[in-house]
Amino acid sequence: MHKTLRYYSTNRNLHQPGIAPFKKTVSFSEALLMGQAPDEGLFMPEFIPVIPLEDFAALKGRPYTDAAMLVGRAFLASEIGEESLRKIIADSYNYPVPIEYVDGRSYILRLDQGPTASFKDFAARMMARLMGTMNTSGKTLNVLVATSGDTGSAVGEAFKGVTGIDVTILYPRNEVSGRQKRQLDSIGENVRTLSIEGKFDDCQNLVKQAFSDPDLSNFNLTSANSINFGRILPQIIYYVWAWAQLARDAEPAVFSVPSGNFGNALGCELARRMGLPVKKLIMPTNENDEFPNFLKSGIYKKVSPSRACLSSAMNVGHPSNLARFFDLYGGNVDRTGFVNSDPDLEQMRNNIFSVSISDQETKKTIKRVYEKYRVLVEPHGAVGWKGLEVYQAINGDNNSLCISVETAHPAKFPDEIRELLGISPELPPSMKDIDKRTGEAIPISANYEDFKGYLRNNLKSAL
Ligand SMILES: *Cc1c(COP(=O)(O)O)cnc(C)c1O
Repeated sequence: MHKTLRYYSTNRNLHQPGIAPFKKTVSFSEALLMGQAPDEGLFMPEFIPVIPLEDFAALKGRPYTDAAMLVGRAFLASEIGEESLRKIIADSYNYPVPIEYVDGRSYILRLDQGPTASFKDFAARMMARLMGTMNTSGKTLNVLVATSGDTGSAVGEAFKGVTGIDVTILYPRNEVSGRQKRQLDSIGENVRTLSIEGKFDDCQNLVKQAFSDPDLSNFNLTSANSINFGRILPQIIYYVWAWAQLARDAEPAVFSVPSGNFGNALGCELARRMGLPVKKLIMPTNENDEFPNFLKSGIYKKVSPSRACLSSAMNVGHPSNLARFFDLYGGNVDRTGFVNSDPDLEQMRNNIFSVSISDQETKKTIKRVYEKYRVLVEPHGAVGWKGLEVYQAINGDNNSLCISVETAHPAKFPDEIRELLGISPELPPSMKDIDKRTGEAIPISANYEDFKGYLRNNLKSAL
């Protein structure tokens, strides 16, 4: 029998004025549908299920969905039947996961073949289907998402066609690119877009206000952002699968994960705790260097406002999932970046290496990797690769199996790639028709009453 996994809040032991610590535990499905704990903490599993090494090794030569079943079962077996899980996984992972050889024993794991050519597809698709299955209330769930571009389309595409869930995406009218707008507006079916006359912050504020508005409580509103544990669980799978494909015997691997809000890297940290042989987790950041500075000095200071770098999806000055890393290492940091208790720094340094990569280094890396190996990386993947090189140079580690993660497709950055390499990368098959897609957003002002009026007239009520 599988032991039932319960989830606690990272703020359960906090003594802070104005916040009542959430002392209860919840099931996975409750954590999934709640998103965040009521005390603003993040949900974490009470224990990390351990998988025998031979089960990981047996995935060699097996399809990606087998790895997803192994990891999924370990966390979810007590809450979802084998056949439901198998169907969710088959629907979620219907695209390739290429591993590209680079040099020595180093590889790039390309997580860029999903419907929006971003690694976020992996988590969003499985989470959406889990939500659809675990929402047994019989009432429509209304997901609200504020986006500055890429997250919205990954989440929107992920929920497309999932029964019982409608999605409303808000984006700032004048802050998304033409291609992003087309990608968002053309999703269709149960996914609608509102183009807001305002900035990304306005979109976020509208969504936050709606969540706390009692007049909207009968609409079953929920969020699908990256603090949901349902977005973390699927991000364990690709580390497990990639290791099994590449490892000789039981050799440990070094993983490099370009990091912003640290959800992707957290997947690797959890994979190690499940028993996957991970020698080192490298978490390179762009010029938002709060975490590498912390590992070095032991003093945490968020970067505020965050710095605008080329690898724009990693422009984060205080990563939301840092709270989960601190918790795993016995510490606590809150939503504002205040450290309530220190994590075990020595242990953290043993397992994790982090370094800040400048925009200039990022560009040089794109150029060098292409010229030397004919391997194409975009700015996020370049931060990952450079972080691996820095680690290898410092540690003289040239014999370990190394896997660097590419989180987006180079064709999503045509201007940078053309400027640096003089070539125009082709879109992946999933996005080939992007410039021909059509769809209309609904224009709305940034005024809350307008937005609320729209929701009341258009969302399906739970009553
Ligand atoms: C979101 C994102 C990241 C950062 O991932 P985190 O889980 O937030 O650390 C890196 N690269 C790309 C392309 C992304 O979209």
